[in-house]
Amino acid sequence: GTAAVTMAISMAACGKAGDDKKDSAASGDTKSIGLLLPENASSTRYESFDKPFIEAKVKALCGDCNVKYSNAEGSASKQKQQFDTLIAQGVKVIILDAFDATSTASWVKEAAAKGVKVVAYDRLATGPVSAYVSFDNEKVGELQGEALVTALGAKAADANVVMINGDEADPNAAYFKSGAKKALEGKVKKVVYEASGEWKPTVAGQKIGTAITSLGKDGFQAVYSANDGMAAAIITQLKAAGINVPVGGQDAGVDAIQRIVAGDQAYTIYKAYKPLADSAAELAVNLLQNKDIKSVASATVDSPTDKGIPAKLLSPKVVTKANIQDTVIADGLYKAADICTAD
Ligand code: BGC
Repeated sequence: GTAAVTMAISMAACGKAGDDKKDSAASGDTKSIGLLLPENASSTRYESFDKPFIEAKVKALCGDCNVKYSNAEGSASKQKQQFDTLIAQGVKVIILDAFDATSTASWVKEAAAKGVKVVAYDRLATGPVSAYVSFDNEKVGELQGEALVTALGAKAADANVVMINGDEADPNAAYFKSGAKKALEGKVKKVVYEASGEWKPTVAGQKIGTAITSLGKDGFQAVYSANDGMAAAIITQLKAAGINVPVGGQDAGVDAIQRIVAGDQAYTIYKAYKPLADSAAELAVNLLQNKDIKSVASATVDSPTDKGIPAKLLSPKVVTKANIQDTVIADGLYKAADICTAD
């Protein structure tokens, strides 16, 4: 029950491909859905949540369907090969979380010419995609900026802020950054250092090292990190330098929740993975079975290449120590025991 969970949390606080056939729309694989995710290094979300949730929902909607999954591990060329392999295998619907959304326009166009439909997932791939499902990513950034201001409290007006942003090939990274800047503007003194951590913890660690060296230990009072994987590396560096300032992230990774409980990280952003994955699976199965998708994706978005893409955009939430219970635990993402490690 709730009381037991609350108690457990406060306790933790102490402590190769076939032939490239010419497929008509009718031929090809009518039972497989391709799933291409972008990376593994800076977020555990992909293999902990996105992949299993999409697989489960595809099975629930279509008992004899299967998901063909690959992870690009942070390489656009690897993802292109994975995409081409799926098409060569005759897969007709691909859920694509583009590593480099700017490079996908020609692939999606060629796929469409072969009757292959693409559902853009989380990051809006360029090219004629059939649908898009994601979160309101500008809102993610706004929530991050607001949460950092809240964490600074009375110190906000005098605070210099360091920003370690996401990878520039990811359109979401620009939204996170602009949303955060909007929320920081007028509330903190200044953004004194800004760099891309490239969605790589190692790079984020190097960049915060540069910030510490150039600004000095007292030169900044808060760090914006675009996600939790980079925040982990940043917090390690700050601790080693004896600097204690609020740092926030995104993704509600279990280690981030643990750092929040321990007081090492100020906040994370929780994007409910299940409804995201469920919507992607529903869109993909409907496209595979030539059913309507407008009931799932009733909004529209424009990409740099295409207008009026059917879309569904979900709402992100801030997670701090105060609402772990009401967010990631209430949603069943974690049990208290996952968060509270014995000590
Ligand atoms: C996702 C984040 C993730 C980041 C790095 C973004 O596009 O929205 O959840 O942390 O990519 O993989």
